[in-house]
Amino acid sequence: MGQMKAQGAGRKARGARGREGAENPSHPPLRPAPRAMRLRPLRPAPCAVRLRHSDVVVIGAGPAGLAAAVQLERQGIRTVVLEKDRPGGQIATANLVENYLGLFGLPGADVARLFVRHAMNAGVRIVRAEARRVAGRGPFTVHTTKGMWRSRAVVVATGAVPRKLGGDGGDVQYDTADLEVFRGKDVIVLGSGDAAFDRALRIRPVATSVRVICRGAPSALPLLVSRCIRAGIAATVGAGEPAVKLVGGRFEVRTRKGTFRAERLLASIGKLPAPPGLPLSLERLAPALPDGRTTVTGLYLVGDMVSGRGRYLSIATGMGIAAARAIGEWFNRGKRVGVGGSGPWR
Ligand SMILES: Cc1cc2nc3c(=O)[nH]c(=O)nc-3n(C[C@H](O)[C@H](O)[C@H](O)COP(=O)(O)OP(=O)(O)OC[C@H]3O[C@@H](n4cnc5c(N)ncnc54)[C@H](O)[C@@H]3O)c2cc1C
Repeated sequence: MGQMKAQGAGRKARGARGREGAENPSHPPLRPAPRAMRLRPLRPAPCAVRLRHSDVVVIGAGPAGLAAAVQLERQGIRTVVLEKDRPGGQIATANLVENYLGLFGLPGADVARLFVRHAMNAGVRIVRAEARRVAGRGPFTVHTTKGMWRSRAVVVATGAVPRKLGGDGGDVQYDTADLEVFRGKDVIVLGSGDAAFDRALRIRPVATSVRVICRGAPSALPLLVSRCIRAGIAATVGAGEPAVKLVGGRFEVRTRKGTFRAERLLASIGKLPAPPGLPLSLERLAPALPDGRTTVTGLYLVGDMVSGRGRYLSIATGMGIAAARAIGEWFNRGKRVGVGGSGPWR
């Protein structure tokens, strides 16, 4: 059967060549190219082929990005949100959220779920993809792990990543997303801010023991510090710069207040902005409060990535909404004076 097919194919090929030769006798008969020269079928480049369009691309489905997207949808602006991980952002790992009006103290995971549900109900489209680079100065091209998006405006809401501990040599934890890591273990938390004490409280019910080590005085809310004390969490303050090493599979933390050992070490020692590649450096983009507009028209940076020490849900969502409002006004201004522009966002 296979042979018959092969013969048939050969006849067809010869026939085609014959016809070609008859129409153009001067054309030399086509010979198959030597093996080495034969073209291989092109493989699609990893992230170059698919180009999609949206009025606005929001990068990051944390509180800032979702708030921006909900407001954009309400304004009738076509929006897509790109999320590399789980929608909801870092609030999902908070022990208890008590300062977001109307929520009356909810576990962070519930707050994240509410935010995502709200966005979905508003018709926000969330696509699982990691943005690698934002190119252009409007329209923008967002290069992602799953193709490219072209848009007139981009809202970057990628939050901040934990500052890493230098030279620890071990498996240091930086968040409490997976509580099982801490179950039945002695845990040391390094850090003095709200997040360090909030994380200690979240780990406490599953861990054997928890100690927070602060370089100086705690900078966390006294409310959180006293809750930790009541929950039986030890605190060492004014410990100076800790020296961390692994000894026999356990972390050893040397401080000027003594040496402490634990099976798990969680570092909560600050955050750094985590933008994808941008057309200019953060300094040159100079994002401005409250709407995160930058020196590049149409490019907005919002939320924890740019809010410095004001890393709060309400600031992140407020910036997202402010950016969406600014984009809406800008798009409408164009319409009123008849500047439709060209392309799919017209
Ligand atoms: C332990 C803890 C407790 C907290 N408790 C409180 C509290 O009680 N009250 C309060 O007001 N605030 C609290 N916060 C702060 C609050 O969580 C942040 O202010 C808020 O989540 C910031 O929102 P964001 O959208 O700017 O960033 P994030 O929440 O960090 O969201 C950014 C999103 O972008 C995604 N992303 C990043 N890079 C890319 C990329 N290249 N492509 C696609 N997606 C990307 C991330 O996966 C993430 O989902 C707490 C924070 C922590 C860590």
